[in-house]
Amino acid sequence: MLLGCIADDLTGATDLSLMLSREGMRTVQTTGVPTQSLDLTNVDAVVVSLKSRTIAADQAVAQSLAAAQWLQENRAQKFMFKYCSTFDSSDLGNIGPVAEALLHHLGETFSIACPAFPAVGRSIYQGNLFVNGVPLAESSMRDHPLTPMRDSNLCRVLQRQVSGKVGLVSYADVEAGAEAIAKAFAAQRTAGTRLAIVDALSDAHLRSIGKIAANLRLVTGGSGIAIGLPAAYLELGLIERLTKPPTSIAAPMGRCIILSGSCSTATQEQVQTAISAGYPAYQINPLEIASGSMTVATVLSWLAAQSVNAIPLIYSTAAPAKVSAIQKELGRKTSGQIVEDLLAGIANALPQLGYTRLIVAGGETSGAVVAALGIKVLAIGPEIDPGVPWTMSKSQPTMALALKSGNFGGNDFFLKAWNMLQ
Ligand code: ADP
Repeated sequence: MLLGCIADDLTGATDLSLMLSREGMRTVQTTGVPTQSLDLTNVDAVVVSLKSRTIAADQAVAQSLAAAQWLQENRAQKFMFKYCSTFDSSDLGNIGPVAEALLHHLGETFSIACPAFPAVGRSIYQGNLFVNGVPLAESSMRDHPLTPMRDSNLCRVLQRQVSGKVGLVSYADVEAGAEAIAKAFAAQRTAGTRLAIVDALSDAHLRSIGKIAANLRLVTGGSGIAIGLPAAYLELGLIERLTKPPTSIAAPMGRCIILSGSCSTATQEQVQTAISAGYPAYQINPLEIASGSMTVATVLSWLAAQSVNAIPLIYSTAAPAKVSAIQKELGRKTSGQIVEDLLAGIANALPQLGYTRLIVAGGETSGAVVAALGIKVLAIGPEIDPGVPWTMSKSQPTMALALKSGNFGGNDFFLKAWNMLQ
C-alpha cells in the first residue's frame, strides 16, 4: 500500500475509492479500522471509512488517528483525509480538528484543503465554494438536516475550526499550472499557513494540483483532489503502474431493494422518479417512530407483502420544511438517529429475506446500514454516476451495494443502477 486514506463517512469513502480505482490505483475500502489483518497483496490504496462527520470533534480526532496508526502499521507512505465536497461541518469541526491532528501525528506542518469536485458541480473560486454555480450558503446545503452550511467562504469556515493559520492558493496560480502551484504552496508554508484552501474549477485544475500535492505527506479534500494523485505517484516512481478499473460486477442473484435516508435535493428527485416508475414505496415517518407506532416490524410486514420481483423503496426522504418541523418536535440529533436506527434494523433483516442487491441513499444512512449488515470490506466495481460505484462486500453477507451520497446521481439513478446489473 502506498496511499492510506481516512474518510469521514461511508459514501465519501466509496466515492474516493472509485476515483482512485478509475485513475489506476488498486483500491480496497474498509468500514472502520480493520480489527483483523487484511490481505494487501496487489493493493495500492486503502480507504478506511469512518462515521465521524457529525460526532463530537474529540471522538472524530481519536478515530481518525487510530485509522492513521493502522495505515502506518500497514506501510502507508502517503495519507489523505477525505471529507464531503460540500465541506459538511460546523464551527466545532470536524474537518479542521481532524486535519490538524493528522498533521501533528505525521510530524508535518502544512497541507491543503480542497473539496472541489467539478464533475458533480462543486467548484472553489477565491476560497468560496459553489454548488452547481450557487454559493454554498445559498444552495440546498443551507438546510442540511445535520450540517447546515451558512457560509460559502471556506477560508472563514475552516479558520473557525482550527488553531493554525488558514491560507488560500487562488485561481490565478492554479490556472497557471503545476509550477505556479508549487511556488504558491511554498509561499503558503513560508507565511506560516497550516492548511491552504485551494481554488479549483475544473478537472484540469485538480490534475495540476494533484501533481504537486503528490509530494505532500497528507492531502485533505473531496474525492476530486485524488483525480491527479495516481498519475503523479506513477511519475514520482511511488507506484509501478496504473491498473485498468473494473467495467462490470458479478452481483449475486437475489432480491433488490432501496433504502433512502437522505433528504438532499437529488435524492428527493430520485425517490419521486422511482415512485413514478411504479416502485412499491413505504415512507418512514420519524414522528411515528418516536411515538412507537412505526417499528422495524411494521416496515418488515409491509416488505413481506411485496412481490418477489418488485424493487421495494423504503424512504424517510422529505422536503426541508417537513424535516425542520420534525426536528423542531424531536430535535435534530434524535430525529436523525431514530431514522438511521430504523433503517439499520431493516437492513439487518435483509440477508435472511433473500435481498442481495441493495442501494442506499445518504452518507450517514449508508454508514448505519452497512454497520448493521456487519460488512467490513468492499471491493470497488463500475461507476454508476459520478462519485457512485457498485461495490461488492468481500465478507459475509455477500451483497452488491450502491452507496450513494445524498446529492449525487441523476434523477434516474436508481433505475440506471439496476440496469447495470442485468
Ligand atoms: P445525505 O447524504 O443526503 O447528507 P445522510 O444520510 O448523510 O444523507 O443524512 C441525512 C440525515 O437526516 C440522517 O441522519 C437521517 O436519519 C436524517 N433524516 C432522514 N429523514 C429524515 C426526516 N424525515 N426527518 C428528519 N431527519 C431525517
